[in-house]
Amino acid sequence: MKRKVTKQAIEALHAQLCKVYKLPLIPIVWTSTRRGRFVYKPTTIRLGINCWRGIKTSYIHEFAHYVDYSTHGPYLHHGKEFYDSLLKVAEHVLGNPKKYKWSTEYKSVLSRWREDTLDRD
Ligand SMILES: [Zn+2]
Repeated sequence: MKRKVTKQAIEALHAQLCKVYKLPLIPIVWTSTRRGRFVYKPTTIRLGINCWRGIKTSYIHEFAHYVDYSTHGPYLHHGKEFYDSLLKVAEHVLGNPKKYKWSTEYKSVLSRWREDTLDRD
């Protein structure tokens, strides 16, 4: 049986990633929605405990927004910069970005990944 990812596990991972990326430890706000969201005023990561794409996948996506935001400013889109951040965060958390659930990503992000893996293989 697949181990359920708990809030505590995500909070611990979050504390660790903020250290690794030398970013202020921003709060995770738990909501009852099925979506995650990165908010920059006040800077928070909002996560639904029942996120449709899985809580860890959702967390990785939103944390990548945080990395992107702290590097490039408040542009919350899913372009090249976001993709680069996502790739790094996914690699850090999962050991290999191939383990990330790319199929749950926005089309623009997924197509970058597909191109990228074609280039690599
Ligand atoms: Zn997003």
